[in-house]
Amino acid sequence: RHPVDEQPAPDPSKKTLVVLGTGWGSVSLLKKLDTENYNVVVVSPRNYFLFTPLLPSCTVGTIEHRSIMEPIRNFLRHKKAAVKYYEAEATKIDYEKRVVYINDDSEIKGDVSATEVPFDMLVIGVGAENATFGIPGVREHGLFLKEVGDAQRIRNRIMDCCETATFKDQSPDEIQRLLHMVVVGGGPTGVEFAGELQDFFNSDLKKWIPEIKDTFKVTLVEALPNVLPMFSKQLIDYTEKTFKEETITIRTKTMVKKVTDKFIEAESTGPDGKKIVEKIPYGLLVWATGNALRPLVKDFINQIPAQKDSRRGLAVNEYLVVKGCENVWAVGDCAVANYAPTAQVASQEGAWLARMFNQMAKTHEIEAELAELSVKQEKAPGKDARDAVFADIKELQKRLRRVKQIGPFEYTHQGSLAYIGSEKAVADIAWLSGNIASGGTLTYLFWRSAYISMCFSTRNRILVCVDWFKSKIFGRDVSRV
Ligand code: FAD
Ligand code: NAD
Repeated sequence: RHPVDEQPAPDPSKKTLVVLGTGWGSVSLLKKLDTENYNVVVVSPRNYFLFTPLLPSCTVGTIEHRSIMEPIRNFLRHKKAAVKYYEAEATKIDYEKRVVYINDDSEIKGDVSATEVPFDMLVIGVGAENATFGIPGVREHGLFLKEVGDAQRIRNRIMDCCETATFKDQSPDEIQRLLHMVVVGGGPTGVEFAGELQDFFNSDLKKWIPEIKDTFKVTLVEALPNVLPMFSKQLIDYTEKTFKEETITIRTKTMVKKVTDKFIEAESTGPDGKKIVEKIPYGLLVWATGNALRPLVKDFINQIPAQKDSRRGLAVNEYLVVKGCENVWAVGDCAVANYAPTAQVASQEGAWLARMFNQMAKTHEIEAELAELSVKQEKAPGKDARDAVFADIKELQKRLRRVKQIGPFEYTHQGSLAYIGSEKAVADIAWLSGNIASGGTLTYLFWRSAYISMCFSTRNRILVCVDWFKSKIFGRDVSRV
């Protein structure tokens, strides 16, 4: 352990490895990295790791947000050698100068709130931001679902809509609008949120506020012909059927074009093939249409000529090196390596990179030893002494070859899992060389046990189980804070 006052100064003989972000990619790298080999510096505006797969449950209080957060300081203090952490946003990477500019964006600022961090090696794991496709009104009126703050805002907005709808003398049209919960984007984020929200209504809201029970309505809007495009056809059908039973309306082939404070404008194709534009009033709008590049990544792409065609993220090679750069790697949602932007991919990339960095350090160590031995061999008095050193060199060279044998990153897909509400989940699980598709209550139990086992720490696991128990026994908390 390294309490702050015991932290050693950076070792000049070691390279400085700067890691940006504390999400799935960066944290799984830090988990496996032997921090004794480098001066490790972590920069992220978020001083905790967030277990995103359970974030939709936080929007309705099935799980409390702190149960899926792990303080980064707590995690880093258990590393073998000290790691520096700066709570800051990286605002620019200057590749030529090998520095990252960082800004303290928090409320409390000291005399210094902007500075630079030099690096020898850089890992970019800053994730992505929410895509809006420039659709007017989305940023002003919609809520996203990516961070803890988003889940809290949604939780408050749901309750605000319910309380406002029951305000004295509210007109029927206004009640209908306020209780219309619209989710845009039929990917897993939108589907899981819609399922959680309907659960909240069915198990708690309608008992506690009976006057809303005939008006509360959840609608999921998706531009494509079906929801959950990454799942197999049978699970898509199963999800759509389950949503129908739960009375969640799915509007596929419907593209939202504009958002105002009270309605969305959506374009769909009528039965005669003609385009129809309609106004859909809403009380809550959750926007879940996937990922877009962060400004930091966009700016970096513009600095590197080899990245000029990168649209969805930093193009990386099979060793996760950012194309056109030396000693710069990218992991997770900000990197494009032909895999979907998921936690599963990000965590495998981070873990692989850590193994590679550990191997690289070992390689340097052996190469230094070899250089020393060859000097020793030259100076060795007599043939016998020279032969003895030669044997050592042979042995080390063998070790070096073994250590250098690290193949390129290869992703192993373990399957896709999503909660769809009413204690049902869908799962496409990779099995041998095939795939098992399953949906229902048993899959839901599997979903729960899989996510519990994937939680960051034992503390998180216990807290999540306690939250599940609490919400089952006492119902979810509807207080607005
Ligand atoms: P993130 O985990 O987003 O982490 C990015 C980090 O970078 C954060 O710490 C952030 O604060 C930091 N950062 C941002 N900007 C800067 C900056 N300028 N400088 C420094 N640091 C910065 N995937 C699955 O596989 N299974 C699931 O069940 C699943 N469920 C999901 C549910 C939800 C609601 C969401 C939103 C996503 C879900 N995902 C899931 C996707 C998964 O969360 C992402 O693919 C994953 O988080 C990507 O990891 P990452 O490390 O690239 O980015
Ligand atoms: P997504 O990109 O998977 O889905 C977004 C959906 O929004 C698309 O289907 C798109 O057609 C639709 N869309 C875009 N613009 C629209 C518009 N104007 N009107 C209507 N629909 C529109 O996004 P996501 O669900 O946020 O997921 C992001 C990533 O995170 C994905 O890679 C996903 O696999 C991963 N994720 C996984 C899980 C899980 O495994 N359970 C859960 C959440 C997220």
